[in-house]
Amino acid sequence: MGVIVKKVELTWLDRTYVWPVLQGMAITFGHFIRNLFTTTPNRYTVQYPEMKREIPDGYRGLHELKRFEGGEIKCVACFMCQEACPARCISIEAEEFSDLNITQGFQEKRPAKFSIDMLRCICCGMCEEACPKDAIWLRKDYELAAYDRLSMQYGKWDLMNTYSDADGKAHINQDPTPSVPRRTIAL
Ligand code: SF4
Ligand code: SF4
Repeated sequence: MGVIVKKVELTWLDRTYVWPVLQGMAITFGHFIRNLFTTTPNRYTVQYPEMKREIPDGYRGLHELKRFEGGEIKCVACFMCQEACPARCISIEAEEFSDLNITQGFQEKRPAKFSIDMLRCICCGMCEEACPKDAIWLRKDYELAAYDRLSMQYGKWDLMNTYSDADGKAHINQDPTPSVPRRTIAL
């Protein structure tokens, strides 16, 4: 739906450009006075990184690949997030990991490789929306820095482990035993 944007007509006072500057300075001075007489947590200026603002629910920050209680990755390598990503920054390689095809006619899939180029990501949340398995979340965490471009390529284990400490979970660096163990079938 189109939005009609009204053209702002400047008065002669506005056209002097002195009055708007004075208005801006009055706002800045008001903040200065408020900072003097308010307690530290309520000030406009936050002493980052010692202090951090409360991030609202729904904030789209950095990604996490979720796992089950046993450590298995929730992602089934369906590529929905990769397709939905407008920045084309998700890259997935799938692998099959069970012998369910013998008994049920299909195999379980999981990502052998899963990476996000955080230099290209615009934190739009489309991947999270598209995921049918609730396997990729955008968290409230927003601190993102690195000394080189390669470090901004988040791989599968980065995405699974980065927040383990904060969430009190154990780090895992290899997939646990598949939930459906391989069996030797005599043909
Ligand atoms: S948040 Fe958006 S840009 Fe970033 S990986 Fe997800 S879909 Fe792509
Ligand atoms: S994160 Fe979700 S949408 Fe992306 S491949 Fe895995 S299961 Fe599919």
